[in-house]
Amino acid sequence: MERVNYHTHTKLCRHAEGEERDYVNEALRCGLTELGFSDHAPFKDGRYGLRMEYGEMPGYVERIRALREEFRGKLSIRCGLEIEYDPGQSEYYEELLTRLGMEYLVLGQHYYRDASGRELNTFLLDKTEDTSVYPAYAKSLAEGMKTGYFKIAAHPDLFFINRLPADANCERACDIIVNAAVSCGIVLEFNANGIRRGRQEYSDGLRYPYPHRMFWEKVKSAGIPVLINSDCHKPGFIWDDAVEKAYSLAEDWGLTVRGKLDFS
Ligand SMILES: [Zn+2]
Ligand SMILES: [Zn+2]
Repeated sequence: MERVNYHTHTKLCRHAEGEERDYVNEALRCGLTELGFSDHAPFKDGRYGLRMEYGEMPGYVERIRALREEFRGKLSIRCGLEIEYDPGQSEYYEELLTRLGMEYLVLGQHYYRDASGRELNTFLLDKTEDTSVYPAYAKSLAEGMKTGYFKIAAHPDLFFINRLPADANCERACDIIVNAAVSCGIVLEFNANGIRRGRQEYSDGLRYPYPHRMFWEKVKSAGIPVLINSDCHKPGFIWDDAVEKAYSLAEDWGLTVRGKLDFS
């Protein structure tokens, strides 16, 4: 199977290492045929942090386009961004996909809104004592998935970073996300960065924070092929042991892994 990766960061996001060219060189070294950049996207209002600034986006696109020309015939290079879904930003997503030069957007719902409209940080789900927020995260992710702005839903099972036993709310959150993927056809990402975080002791045993088997069993039952992405924040992570492990885990769990995405 051809080696591809559509979830790649750069030092522009302030928590990754390496420039675009370093990732291209590593992709070539590892035998990838297609590399998609999806660094953390800015919003015009500068919210959230840990991402490029709005004014840095043109340079990012320019450098990726130049690399695409330089390596034409050797490596296919795609230009995208990873971004959160906010219902108030529809025009901006459209702009990113047209005027601002993105070929695709990866939906990384690092922030979501609960039923009362309160904005919450998804990574804080690891500390919550109230599992009813999982369906809220899932609904906000599903809403974004259904808009059609995003090609890939990144680490959809991120909420399994929590240490409480999997319960009915976990199950419900999985169902909401998988059903949304079935109805809209978005690509679900099996994320190797969860594997990079290492196996940890949870109430349901020793496991990676994500990918979580409960979620991917449902994906398998739904008959949806999955995309394995590195989510690399260092050039050396483009095709490392974590990515290899992701492929073997997906195989062990009986998932159908898809290759190159269609950009036509
Ligand atoms: Zn990141
Ligand atoms: Zn990412």
